[in-house]
Amino acid sequence: MPVSGRGPYDPQNIFARILRGEIPCRRVFENDVALAFHDIAPQAPVHVLVIPKGEYVAFADFSAQAPAETVAAFFRAVGEVARALGLEDSGYRLLANMGPDSGQEVPHFHVHILAGRPLGGRLVAGP
Ligand code: 5GP
Repeated sequence: MPVSGRGPYDPQNIFARILRGEIPCRRVFENDVALAFHDIAPQAPVHVLVIPKGEYVAFADFSAQAPAETVAAFFRAVGEVARALGLEDSGYRLLANMGPDSGQEVPHFHVHILAGRPLGGRLVAGP
């Protein structure tokens, strides 16, 4: 069920619960600002989610409200995860859904890292 992508932040969303350790995840990376873990329903051989530790619903509030150093550290973490997973030669796709038309389902900002096979030229499904 798509979410709005706008606040208020719901502290009971599934990624908030993963951050609090209430729900397990297959963690691949963690530092002060970000946590990365395998998607529970992978859509590619490599499908990892990178999330900030702060409370941001989607890219909209993260990009507008997070401190500049947090934004920089977060995207450095995304790159570090991809590098650590050995994806730089074969390549990877980054994706961030925001709001209803994107199909965003979890109201905590996250970046998908998709890789492990040619991902095709289409960026969106349907007509
Ligand atoms: P969105 O559609 O919001 O961009 O992506 C949410 C992603 O979170 C989906 O790819 C979905 O499979 C994944 N996901 C939902 N619940 C869980 C969970 O409990 N654990 C993990 N690891 N991934 C989840």
